[in-house]
Amino acid sequence: MDKNFYIKKSAQVFDAIVVGSGITGGWAAKELTEKGLKVLMVERGKPVEHRQDYPGEGVQAWKLPFRNAMNYQLVEDQYYIQRQCYAFGDSSKQFFMNDRDYPYSTPEGKPFSWIRGNQLGGKSLLWARQSYRLSDYDFNANLADGHGVDWPIRYKDLEQWYSYVERHAGISGSKENIPVLPDSEFLPPFEFNNVELALKKKIEAKFPDRKMIMGRCAHLTQPAPHHLEQGRLQCQARNECHKGCSFGANFSTQSSTLPAALKTNNLSIATNAIVHSVIYDPKTNRAKGVRIIDSETMETREYFGKMVFLCASTLGTTQIMLNSISERFPTGIANSSGVLGHYLMDHLYGSGAVGRIDGFEDEYYSGRRPTAPYIPNFRNVKEKHPNFFRGYSLSGSASRENWGSFAKKDGFGADFKKQIQNAGSWYFSLHGSGEMLPRYDNQVSLHPTLKDKWGMPQLHIEASFTENDYKMNEDIANTAAEILEAAGAKDIVKHVIRRNEDRPFGLSIHEMGTARMGRDPKTSVLNGNNQTHDVPNLFVTDGACMTSNAWQNPSLTYMAITARACDFAVKQLKLGKI
Ligand SMILES: Cc1cc2nc3c(=O)[nH]c(=O)nc-3n(C[C@H](O)[C@H](O)[C@H](O)COP(=O)(O)OP(=O)(O)OC[C@H]3O[C@@H](n4cnc5c(N)ncnc54)[C@H](O)[C@@H]3O)c2cc1C
Ligand code: SF4
Repeated sequence: MDKNFYIKKSAQVFDAIVVGSGITGGWAAKELTEKGLKVLMVERGKPVEHRQDYPGEGVQAWKLPFRNAMNYQLVEDQYYIQRQCYAFGDSSKQFFMNDRDYPYSTPEGKPFSWIRGNQLGGKSLLWARQSYRLSDYDFNANLADGHGVDWPIRYKDLEQWYSYVERHAGISGSKENIPVLPDSEFLPPFEFNNVELALKKKIEAKFPDRKMIMGRCAHLTQPAPHHLEQGRLQCQARNECHKGCSFGANFSTQSSTLPAALKTNNLSIATNAIVHSVIYDPKTNRAKGVRIIDSETMETREYFGKMVFLCASTLGTTQIMLNSISERFPTGIANSSGVLGHYLMDHLYGSGAVGRIDGFEDEYYSGRRPTAPYIPNFRNVKEKHPNFFRGYSLSGSASRENWGSFAKKDGFGADFKKQIQNAGSWYFSLHGSGEMLPRYDNQVSLHPTLKDKWGMPQLHIEASFTENDYKMNEDIANTAAEILEAAGAKDIVKHVIRRNEDRPFGLSIHEMGTARMGRDPKTSVLNGNNQTHDVPNLFVTDGACMTSNAWQNPSLTYMAITARACDFAVKQLKLGKI
């Protein structure tokens, strides 16, 4: 590939600078370049070339020295946080950060797990691609129960943008007409296995408000002509997506938005360029560009643009904003409200239940599937739950024990070998993804003295769960067990997260909310178009913008919000308003 788009130094004043190249940075670059703007994408990590830089792809565990586990000492020394992520392993470690180089602090007793993919493509190379729309239940939630400020937008503002990004990205799923989970523009869904189909019937008969659907995900089950034009092919259901996918069968920056942006010849990319801060011009009250530290040479440089889009992931963006200090903004750019860094949210994962399903011993399945059955939220929709606010989804699948399950069982000798050769019992698991309330006390700030090896002030992250979260976790486990029982499961085992230490805040990797959108500049950082209230040409479209976190996986919403904000920003630029 012609690599002329990679730049180092440049005196050019770009029409726009996009910071970050993950899910939101990729979308911002695509939208802005396709609208004719000359754009510079600034990425702190190294370049990752589609297909060429996926060394773990297709490498089976038995070809790796430790069967995809890693040298214990190496993990202890360098990946002590990243290893907590389920997708971390020998074949995917290149997309995770070395924790020694990316320090941050947390108070005693309040662990936070910050999982990062700092490379070209960001976490778009790692995500599980679960993709769900928010509904008006979510956009109304803060207003309805008084937690957090009101969203400045509603579903109708985002609806066309969901459709727009879904068509390009390719989302598989089924039309279901569920009010709390609007349908997307779908490619065909993945299939249920026979046990899941039988359980679905039982569950829906017993609980009419709990529909079990196939998980919606950004995988090409049947590529449309425009996907093939992007160089993307049908998903082979290998379920190896976090190692990189040369088929381009799932959505990533590399497979989808970057090729589209590069096709315009309007995109330049600076990699290994850590944005230190936004350059602010007090005379015009505009962002003029960004200051960067070259991660390889430690040199500092400046890049200039007519507007700046911060898409460096929730905490990356917040770190840059807090570090962008001027006389007008002594606590961080566009922070006249004082809420920058506050209202950090994540999802509640880890609680649920599992049970054995008898009666299907003549059934088996072959192959894999990069998604699983999903029960959308039914709590606090029609009736208020007595114990907690907001809702959760449940997801899980039915699978049959095979030789792999025996790795954790005791045994030896001929009998044990014989057992391993036979398929075991069927199990069905259900685990929750719960909504958290936005709280001022869950916050990030810059550490007053500690810096990383490049000289960036470290983030201090202070976040903890509350009674509402624990009560929801309790209900998730009880309800999962209740559903499993109705489905005929035996020997049901519940798991409930009851303490911060059981599962750290952040580990759901849906951190959001630290530069929230809102109607009032006194209580929010961004307006309804993701423009900072204070600096008209500064936009934030990653998860930092979220006013509440809903119960759905968030990245599809980030995509739609980014495309919408780009449309607004370009119109404003052309009108000379920013
Ligand atoms: C294993 C895993 C599974 C997940 N599954 C799902 C899922 O199923 N569904 C879902 O919705 N979400 C999922 N997520 C979350 C999803 O990946 C994130 O929501 C999404 O990537 C956020 O997009 P982003 O553009 O804000 O950030 P990122 O994709 O993280 O990109 C941010 C980019 O900014 C760069 N950057 C940061 N700081 C700077 C700086 N100072 N200067 C320059 N560049 C900088 C980073 O290097 C990075 O490339 C998952 C995440 C992981 C890790
Ligand atoms: S499951 Fe599909 S998207 Fe994932 S790696 Fe395999 S082919 Fe690619």
